[in-house]
Amino acid sequence: MDMGIAGRTALVCAASKGLGRGCAEALAAEGVNLVITARTAETLEATAASIRAQYGVNVQAVACDITTPEGHAAALAACPAPDILVNNAGGPPPGDFRSFTHEIWIKALEGNMLTPIELMKATIDGMIERGFGRIVNITSSSVKAPIDLLGLSNGARSGLTGFVAGVARKVAATGVTINNLLPGTFDTDRIGVTLEAQAKAQNLPLDEVRKRRAESLPAGRFGTPDEFGRACAFLCSVHAGYITGQNLLIDGAAYPGTY
Ligand code: NAD
Repeated sequence: MDMGIAGRTALVCAASKGLGRGCAEALAAEGVNLVITARTAETLEATAASIRAQYGVNVQAVACDITTPEGHAAALAACPAPDILVNNAGGPPPGDFRSFTHEIWIKALEGNMLTPIELMKATIDGMIERGFGRIVNITSSSVKAPIDLLGLSNGARSGLTGFVAGVARKVAATGVTINNLLPGTFDTDRIGVTLEAQAKAQNLPLDEVRKRRAESLPAGRFGTPDEFGRACAFLCSVHAGYITGQNLLIDGAAYPGTY
């Protein structure tokens, strides 16, 4: 299917690895030119070079911490008028809610709520003027079903979700859509770190812990960044203009509810 977005420009945040990279690659496969961000210049440049070589699109790499005002400014200077904005950043740390200080909360809110809001605010009016825009926020299944020990994620991402619910409706008649993608368990570095910690705590080989975790999921496996990215590319396509203000779980049926 032709997604109808070849030649468009996307700003994809936190895209050197994992789900952000999956989104960047899937958009590049549709002919979308990219500005991608991540903190480590070397890794980011390597990703940019690989995407350029594979898909022949323009890819500009902006090394910055996207959760800071300096990061917002650097990303927007490189890409002031994106047609597509994919908001993403690292997730907040786990812990008992009693250990979360005010400073820790502010950092989580900046990373997983206020940064996407800032970037939407800075780019949405241009999208409205041009009559086309696609905004996708990578959030988490924790928005639908809270995850124990991830109180920061449960809280900060729910704040973003509430904000998006309002704004998506306000701009629905302008050609701009805003949706959230809610990953379940995907095979990225982030899940690798969690599994390593479990393997250590349980004194089990990493492969065994990984196998058990995959088998515990209804789909019997982890999701892949490519699957995630393809869903993102569809939401960014011309065909998805009537899908807005939605929270789409991509979790291989892990969420146990009927709706
Ligand atoms: P990952 O660790 O594999 O990749 C994260 C990417 O973000 C890397 O490119 C990293 O360089 C970049 N990054 C992190 N912090 C950044 C910052 N402050 N500024 C710029 N770049 C930054 O992670 P992932 O698994 O792809 O997860 C992406 C998001 O989705 C995270 O917020 C994570 O919490 C959330 N999530 C992931 C899963 C999963 O199963 N992988 C499940 C639920 C939610």
